[in-house]
Order: sequence, then C-alpha cells, then structure tokens
Amino acid sequence: MAQAKTRAQPATRLHVDDTLEEGRTLGLDRDRAHFLRSVLRLGPGARLAVFNARDGEWQAEIEGLGKGWCSLNVGAQRRKPVPEPDLWLVFAPIKRARIDFIAEKATELGVAVLQPVMTRFTAVSRVNEDRLAANAREAAEQCERLSIPEVRETRSLGEVLDQWPQGRRLLVCAEWGAAQPIAEALQAVRAGREGSGTFATDPWAILTGPEGGFAESELDALRKLPFAVPVGLGPRILRADTAALAALACWQAVLGDGAERPPAELAGFPTG
Ligand code: SAM
Repeated sequence: MAQAKTRAQPATRLHVDDTLEEGRTLGLDRDRAHFLRSVLRLGPGARLAVFNARDGEWQAEIEGLGKGWCSLNVGAQRRKPVPEPDLWLVFAPIKRARIDFIAEKATELGVAVLQPVMTRFTAVSRVNEDRLAANAREAAEQCERLSIPEVRETRSLGEVLDQWPQGRRLLVCAEWGAAQPIAEALQAVRAGREGSGTFATDPWAILTGPEGGFAESELDALRKLPFAVPVGLGPRILRADTAALAALACWQAVLGDGAERPPAELAGFPTG
C-alpha cells in the first residue's frame, strides 16, 4: 500500500549540537551521514529538519554527501525553543529489551534526565548508557521534541540520594507500605503550586525499582527523606517499565505539560 504522503513537516529530523542559524553549513558525523545516505538513500537537495533545545528547529537541505560525510545548508527556523518540564527518571535498570523500551518511552513522555541506579535487588550487572542515549535520541527525533534527554552514568541509589540536588522533589513508586495514591499526591502539589505557568517549573524526579522490587529497608530509608513523596500506582504489581511509564504519564498530566498540544507548526493530517 502506498505510504500516505505526510504533512509539510520534513519526515526526517536530526538532533545536532551545532548552533543553528539561517545560512550556516553543518557537517554531520559519520553515523548520521551513513543514515541519510545509505539508510534513507537521500541525496543532495533533500530536505530535512535539524533541531536542539537551545535554537529550536530549522529547515535544512543536503548540500553534498558521500561515504562518511554530509554537509547541510540550514534554512529558515520552523520552531522556536520552548521551556520544558525539569523531570528526571531515576530507575533501577532491567533486562536489555525492556530498558531500551524505558529509554524510548520516557523520552516520549518528556524526561530531561535518565539516571539508572543500582538498588539492592537489581538483577542487571551493567548498563550500556551509550545504547540508551541512542534510543533516547531516536525517540526524541521521532516524537517532535526539541531536546534530547541526558543519560547519566549508572550509580548506586545511595550515591545518587547522597548528592541529591537542593529543591528537587522525588516521587517514589513504592509497591509496598505507606504511600499516597499518585493522583492524590500530585493533585495536592498542584493545588499548593504558586504561579500560573502551564506546568511545574520546579524540578522533580520519579524513582522506580527493579524487577525484584525495592528492599523494605530501601523504602523505609526513602520515606525518611524530606524531598521524597512515596506513591502507589494501584492494586496490581506493575512491571518496572510499566510502572515508570504510568508514573511519568500521571506526572505530566497533573504537574507537567500534559495539557499542552503538539506545536501548531506541525498541524495538518497525513494526506492520502
Ligand atoms: N516487588 C515486586 C515483586 O517482587 O514482584 C515487583 C516490583 S515491581 C516489578 C518494580 C517496581 O515498579 C517497584 O519497585 C515499584 O517502583 C514499581 N511498582 C510496581 N507496582 C507498583 C504499585 N502498585 N505501586 C507503586 N509502585 C509500583
């Protein structure tokens, strides 16, 4: 079946760290050049979009490309930079396919930082942060975000908590023991929120445990932290990846940018 022509938005979006301004020429790294040339089979004159959180999104056109290189001419700006919620996902790593899933879905759900943490019952011995970062970048390019999440080096939960940044609150997904229903906890924060911004500008994080769950001692210690808010996600025991998504979606809906709509510049439906 012929693929429906898509709306005006270029199908390909690439995140680049370079400064984006009209008339600039960008050189892409080997991987990106290979992707455009050999995977997408694009050639000179093809149009795409380049973006980053600092400069927004810009039209671009392939000026030239070859084995391992590609140069783009930057055209007009399509979208201006926008403020985004300051939300971290602090998560115990799980087995390969599902941790990639967490990186992809958490990116779509707008996290700013992915922080893997080793907990008492984490069954995974190491994390490939580079692969997570590649998954996150791809998901950001696909879901029309203007930023990509930062994937941090895996550390123990204790280390991360010992150096917890002042002012950042932590929603602890606690499968056992005392915990507020997540909606109730978030609504209470929303009710007490100053300012009329469309989403929480204050920094937050969400913590989920491993397949084996948190140790009782871990949850007890977490409950004692002044910045921690233990929450429940209902009567069922969710898989770690499900729990992360559920909590992220709830947070975005109540405190985050869930009330916003996709940018008007992207408006338009696929045309047959
Ligand atoms: N301890 C459980 C067990 O041994 O089957 C599994 C824990 S669950 C797979 C992994 C993580 O998801 C938990 O540590 C918690 O962070 C989160 N989680 C799962 N279900 C939850 C619930 N109903 N309420 C709050 N958090 C939940």
